[in-house]
Amino acid sequence: MLTIALSKGRILDDTLPLLAEAGIVPTENPEKSRKLIIPTTRDDVRLLIVRATDVPTYVEQGAADLGVAGKDVLMEYGSDGLYEPLDLKIARCKLMTAGAVGAAEPKGRLRVATKFVNVAKAYYAEQGRQVEVIKLYGSMELAPLVGLADKIIDVVDTGNTLKANGLEAQDLIATISSRLIVNKASMKMKHAPIQALIESLRQAVESRQH
Ligand code: AMP
Repeated sequence: MLTIALSKGRILDDTLPLLAEAGIVPTENPEKSRKLIIPTTRDDVRLLIVRATDVPTYVEQGAADLGVAGKDVLMEYGSDGLYEPLDLKIARCKLMTAGAVGAAEPKGRLRVATKFVNVAKAYYAEQGRQVEVIKLYGSMELAPLVGLADKIIDVVDTGNTLKANGLEAQDLIATISSRLIVNKASMKMKHAPIQALIESLRQAVESRQH
């Protein structure tokens, strides 16, 4: 049995067509179903529906053999304990700093609000800059508007959310897309079926680029 961990929303929407090309189709609509374990048309493959930020945990611990996670999530989680064999080139966006339009740099220590605490610390440490990182779980755009932080670090797609809140994207930290991740022990123990799945997905991704 191969177990694949996925999160609802953008990643699920974009991953299902790739899985379908690899012959894997869920037997019920994961977006509508309340079930968290979804069988597929392949008896030996099932899907787990988990929170996006939990996908690396399920895969690293071996509760799932494979998973699909955004590079932003993997950067924050730290991907040493995982294999990352394939860029699925879906759910693309950018991880960026953003601040209020026209705001001056603060004189004292920069305060940065984000859910990507580890990424933020590493990014500013590399620049040799002392910052105060403020952990938030959502609605980051609010923080600079109400004086909680000078900047935010968040994923940006169209930039409309920033714009609607009087913020502007500033520095690019990383370009983001979703990656296939694999449990290290599964890669050894279930080598043939996992390798076959990686190759099918690789072909599905490549055929889309043309
Ligand atoms: P935007 O199109 O820039 O207004 O993006 C809207 C919101 O969607 C952003 O604030 C992000 O939180 C989220 N978002 C956009 N693209 C992605 C992505 N590929 N993965 C996860 N979240 C995203």
